[in-house]
Amino acid sequence: MQATVMYGAHDVRVETVPDARLVEPTDALVRVTRACICGSDLWPYNSMTPSETGNRMGHEFIGLVEAVGAAVRTVKQGDLVVAPFAWSDGTCEFCQQGLQTSCLHGGWWGGTELDGGQGEAVRVPQADGTLVTLPVGPDHALMPSLLTLSDVMGTGHHAARAAKVGPGKVVAVVGDGAVGLCGVIAARRLGAERIIFLGRHADRIALGRAFGATDVVSERGDAAIDRVRELTGGLGAHSVLECVGHGEAMRTAVSIARAGGAVGRVGVPQETTIPNGQPTFFANITIAGGPAPVRAYIDQLLPDVLEGRIQPGRVFDRVTNIDGVPDGYRAMNEREAIKVMIEF
Ligand SMILES: [Zn+2]
Repeated sequence: MQATVMYGAHDVRVETVPDARLVEPTDALVRVTRACICGSDLWPYNSMTPSETGNRMGHEFIGLVEAVGAAVRTVKQGDLVVAPFAWSDGTCEFCQQGLQTSCLHGGWWGGTELDGGQGEAVRVPQADGTLVTLPVGPDHALMPSLLTLSDVMGTGHHAARAAKVGPGKVVAVVGDGAVGLCGVIAARRLGAERIIFLGRHADRIALGRAFGATDVVSERGDAAIDRVRELTGGLGAHSVLECVGHGEAMRTAVSIARAGGAVGRVGVPQETTIPNGQPTFFANITIAGGPAPVRAYIDQLLPDVLEGRIQPGRVFDRVTNIDGVPDGYRAMNEREAIKVMIEF
């Protein structure tokens, strides 16, 4: 089968790899129908040390179940399923708490051991805990929005939850990528009164406004911090969603949170420390977040997608086939595309 393999920085190839197959009785074999490229795929795209074997890529996909192992109970051949960006057993201590990204028997797609979503088929471990059956056909018009439930919509929602977004709150969203945009959707869905979107690209700003942003701040660094302070009567935002992960974005996020407020971080941190340790301590600012347990959120967000109340699929502004994946990485890296969907 064909799959995406990353061999080093800016070296993404589509290659023939061994066919995905069932190994454990708890596995499902899924034929991928839709997948996408993630902003987090761009971190290795820019920094990966060259590798002889390469890493299989992709952690967001929808597909048709082709076969299941003898122990699988909740999905069957022919089901259309969405996979979260981490797989999990659904039964351990952490899964029962809705924190499937800490599953004791779970893990992450791709790498050197497992299939990735940016390929024609995937062996899904712990299929019962991992996969969610979708009540529509594989070419349904809602496919882009359903695909965002595998990561970006759930991750934006997690940022909003970690930042304690709720009715009456003033929210700021740092990051104008697909996760930041989904964070705007999530903040509005949770009742935010005001949503300040920090973004610079015209197309992303337009989408942010369509999703519910009430204010836009296009300055950077200290000027952005000053502008948010100005917009909030000098106090800062109750809830800040940090959807980037690099140090400057985190510095901005903690600097625009008001005393007693919260920062929800979902961008994979690229630095080992959190900036402004003392000011955030003296202002009693909560800093929370991590990899989103999107498996838990699929159940909560799916009805809103199916009934059209939210349209996170609008973050996809480019569609390609598997041969176009390397160029899709380039386009996202150069900010030519917000998010690239792959159709099989
Ligand atoms: Zn578990």
